[in-house]
Amino acid sequence: MSLEIKEILQVAEARLKGAGCEEAKTDAEELLCFLMKFDKNQLFMNWGRELDEKLCDAYFELLDVRASRRPLHYIIGRREFMGFDFAVNENVLIPRQDTEILVETVLAHMTREKTPTGGWRALEIGVGSGAVSVSLCKNKSDLKMKATDISPAALAVAKKNAVALAVADRIRFAVSDMFGSLRSGLGGAKYHVIVSNPPYIPEDVLPTLQPEISEYEPAVALCGGAGGLDAYRRILEKAHLYMKKRGTLFLEIGFDQADAVTGLIKETKRYETPEVYKDLSGNDRVVRAIAV
Ligand code: GLN
Repeated sequence: MSLEIKEILQVAEARLKGAGCEEAKTDAEELLCFLMKFDKNQLFMNWGRELDEKLCDAYFELLDVRASRRPLHYIIGRREFMGFDFAVNENVLIPRQDTEILVETVLAHMTREKTPTGGWRALEIGVGSGAVSVSLCKNKSDLKMKATDISPAALAVAKKNAVALAVADRIRFAVSDMFGSLRSGLGGAKYHVIVSNPPYIPEDVLPTLQPEISEYEPAVALCGGAGGLDAYRRILEKAHLYMKKRGTLFLEIGFDQADAVTGLIKETKRYETPEVYKDLSGNDRVVRAIAV
């Protein structure tokens, strides 16, 4: 059996829709691009081209994998973030567009404030694929970062992305559970900025999310304990020990966590009144707190 690209895409879309995939049409196109090593333009330019049986079989195999609800980006192994192409695998959370607002907020802060002598120093807790740290370094040439993750397998992905995107000389990676393996006090490094997109989904909510998330993405990057706030508590317990004077903390939050997280920040009495920033869908997404 051979099929024209436009025909096979229709079949594919119906198949993915039937399996419950939300973006069936784009996913069908992306998977075919991945198989054919096409970009989207080439796909449309080849609309009437026939695929031989071997290619059709290979494509249907990819569709089966996606129909099992494995996320598209794990199948193709890539995800675009802040205009850069990141490698991803099952050891890292797939970067979300919402998280671009975290990066933008940090960049806006660095642009507005006077550049510190010797340049910016920032720490990321929970680097995952490296999307945040690498994008920050790509956009700020006078920034050096320390980036940690509890998962060595995630750090391997982040390192690979830092190398591929040519910022590896400005990011130092370390396996660490929160601040666990970072020295504080005398001889420990201090930072102008600490940034994190920590796990924040409440334990009982996680299993109710779509299978792409609940079955395939790393729970360690998603689950924020019973109330979803465990990681914020742990960050706030120690962050001030790693901050320079007037250091600034940037945290991604869940859409309904602004009050809870700003409340935790206020309780510490170590920060000025926190600011909340919204994402492009209008949801609260980032909290910024400047140390007093
Ligand atoms: N934004 C992610 C989601 O809703 C959660 C990311 C996180 O827990 N840090 O799937």
